[in-house]
Amino acid sequence: MDAPVPVVGAGIAGLACARALSDAGVTVRVLDRGRRPGGRMSSRTMHGRPVDLGASYLTARPGSVFAAVVDGWLDRGLARPWTDTFAVAGPDGVRERKSGPLRYGAPRGLRSLVEDLAAGLDVVQERTVERVTAGPAVDGDAVPAAVLAMPGPQAARLLDPGSPAARLVAAERWDAALAVVLGWPERRWPADLHGAFVHDSPDIEWVADDGDRRGDGAPVLVAHTTPELAARHLDDPDAAAPGVVTAVTAALGIDTPPEWTAVHRWTFAKPADPREEPFGLVDGVGLCGDGWHAPSKVESAWSSGDALGRALTAELR
Ligand SMILES: Cc1cc2nc3c(=O)[nH]c(=O)nc-3n(C[C@H](O)[C@H](O)[C@H](O)COP(=O)(O)OP(=O)(O)OC[C@H]3O[C@@H](n4cnc5c(N)ncnc54)[C@H](O)[C@@H]3O)c2cc1C
Repeated sequence: MDAPVPVVGAGIAGLACARALSDAGVTVRVLDRGRRPGGRMSSRTMHGRPVDLGASYLTARPGSVFAAVVDGWLDRGLARPWTDTFAVAGPDGVRERKSGPLRYGAPRGLRSLVEDLAAGLDVVQERTVERVTAGPAVDGDAVPAAVLAMPGPQAARLLDPGSPAARLVAAERWDAALAVVLGWPERRWPADLHGAFVHDSPDIEWVADDGDRRGDGAPVLVAHTTPELAARHLDDPDAAAPGVVTAVTAALGIDTPPEWTAVHRWTFAKPADPREEPFGLVDGVGLCGDGWHAPSKVESAWSSGDALGRALTAELR
C-alpha cells in the first residue's frame, strides 16, 4: 500500500482536505502539533464550560456545498443558528444595529465541529512537523504528496526557502489578535446584544456574547483586539487585559468590571491580503487554508481544503 498522504494541520481546512482525499479512496494521515483538532476554531473550557477563543461564528452561502455540511451539523444539534443582527458600537456606546447573513454557533464550541470532521480519519495529535523538502518528503520520509493546511508564515517555516511552494507563501503578511474572555457573576448587558462590532477604538474590534451564541446564557463576553494592540502585547498578552476591560465596558455601557478575565494570543490570526485562488499545488506540495479563497473565514478555509483535496486526488491518479 502507498504511504499515506500527510495533511499537516488539523484545522477546518486540513480536515476538509483530508475528508475529500479519504472519500476518494486516498489514504491520508493528519498531523497536528496541538492536543486536539480545531486550530483557530478553538474552544477552551473555562469556569466549567467551553468558550470560543478563535472564530466567533461561521457563515454558509445558501446552496453551497459547505451549507450542506452545516445542515448536517444542524440536524445533529452540533451547530445552531445564532443571529443575523449585531450591534455597532463606538468607544463610548452602542450606536445602531446592523443585519447581515445568518451566523451559526456551536453549543459545545466551534472546535466540536472540527472534531466531527476528524471522526474516523487517521489523526495524530501532538506531532509537530519540522521539514517538508523536495520529493516531497516530510521530516525525511518520502510521501506521495504533502498538504500544508495552516497560515502561510507557518508553512514557510517548514519549506526550503526558494522552493516553488515556499515562493507561493513567501510574501504573505498576517495580522495578530488577542482574544480576551470576560466573565461576570450575572449578565450586565441586554439579552438582544448578541455581539458588537466596535468602530474607532484603538483597542478592540469586536465583542461576542459567548453565552448567547452557545445557547447556555452564561454571563461571558469574548473581545477581539485590534491587530495594533495585539502586536504590542505578543510577548506579554496578559498585560493587555486591563485596557481591554476598560474598552469593552465603555463600548457596551457596562457599569461593573468583570469578575475574571483570560487572554489568548493568536500570532497569525488573519491574512492581511487573502488571495482569490482556492489553493496552491506545486511539485506535490499542496497549500490551503483561509489565506486562500478570500475572504478569510471558516467557510473559505473549508472550501480551500475541499478544493485542494479534489485536485490532489486527480493528480495522484
Ligand atoms: C480571533 C479570530 C477571530 C475569527 N473570527 C472568525 C469569525 O467570526 N468567523 C469566521 O468565519 N472566521 C473567523 N476567523 C477565521 C477562522 O478561524 C479561520 O478562517 C479558520 O479557522 C482557519 O482554518 P485553517 O484550517 O485554515 O487554519 P488553522 O485553524 O489555523 O489550522 C492550522 C493548524 O495547523 C497546525 N500546525 C501549524 N504548524 C504545524 C506544524 N509545524 N506541525 C503540525 N501542525 C501544525 C496548527 O496546530 C493548527 O491546528 C477568526 C480567526 C481568529 C484568529
